[in-house]
Amino acid sequence: MIMEPVIDPFGRAIRYLRVSVTDRCDFRCVYCMSEDMQFLPKKEILTLEELDRLCSAFVGLGVEKLRVTGGEPLVRRGIMTFFEAMGRHLKSGALRELTLTTNGSQLEKYAADLARVGVRRVNVSVDTLDADRFKRLTRWGRLDQVLRGIAAAKEAGLRVKINAVALKGETDEELWDLLAWCAREGHDLTFIEVMPMGDIGNEMRLDQFWSLRDLRAQMAERFTITDLAERTGGPARYVRLEETGQKVGFITPLSHNFCESCNRVRVTCTGQIHTCLGQEGSSDLRAALRASDDDAGLQDAIRAAIRLKPRGHDFDYSRGVAGKITRHMSHTGG
Ligand code: SAM
Ligand code: SF4
Repeated sequence: MIMEPVIDPFGRAIRYLRVSVTDRCDFRCVYCMSEDMQFLPKKEILTLEELDRLCSAFVGLGVEKLRVTGGEPLVRRGIMTFFEAMGRHLKSGALRELTLTTNGSQLEKYAADLARVGVRRVNVSVDTLDADRFKRLTRWGRLDQVLRGIAAAKEAGLRVKINAVALKGETDEELWDLLAWCAREGHDLTFIEVMPMGDIGNEMRLDQFWSLRDLRAQMAERFTITDLAERTGGPARYVRLEETGQKVGFITPLSHNFCESCNRVRVTCTGQIHTCLGQEGSSDLRAALRASDDDAGLQDAIRAAIRLKPRGHDFDYSRGVAGKITRHMSHTGG
């Protein structure tokens, strides 16, 4: 049974939690991390049991959709224990959807287990289908391994959505290949604008940025584009390409305002709750989690944090200020 949701001060019902289960990753994508990324000390990071308690507390407060992310969620040791634990909320009907965002490197190993515990859809990040470019953009990744992971996910009956970050001088050269591959394979495709998150060890941010308005304009030269009414409570907007019938999403946190319908909060692997991706503010839930085995204090801390959810975000490239939000995407979870 789905619980009554917590309502924030702007009347938004919080139904969606994204949880980052690790800040670590087996890739070093150029827009996400620096090559010599410093990770958090292990003792800062919530144990799998603590993550279970924390997410279950949110489910008890009306969260009906849980997305597991990171860092790379599937590199966390023992992660399937956590997925199994969350699977019990699917079985009880408290959770409507359990899903994850992954770079796909470990999917070949885990796809069948994920399907078994009740995961139905995965988002896999693939910015390019060119093996050399993939290596350059992810620094440590291998395209063939990711493609095998995606094939395994499909084989296990999982629906795959591809996330591609729109990068100037990269994605623009690949747009047609990515679209054609997704149409052929039956994957939905969502483009994401690069966001100014964290120090990535270079000054590339503003050079990397490719506006999705431009991307859409290029697509409109080849395809008939129909806007879809579908909304997820987040920054994604969807269209259909009439010639192929495929669905394409655009995540444009920098150029559109989606905040009035935002239904989500994020929790980091250290138990910080961020009620807005685009604001620095956060509240600590780890102290409440570790203070007592009883969840009442934890649920109070969650309610108190949601009372502080800001009206909207504050990203702005127009002032020429990049890296405005100091934490990395891999810390908060994309
Ligand atoms: N490691 C997993 C993955 O890559 O899918 C999950 C975590 S990753 C932080 C989640 C998403 O955030 C990925 O689709 C990634 O491309 C995106 N991302 C990372 N850094 C970003 C940035 N600075 N701007 C926009 N998207 C970013
Ligand atoms: Fe790792 Fe995902 Fe960040 Fe790439 S985008 S470095 S795969 S966390």
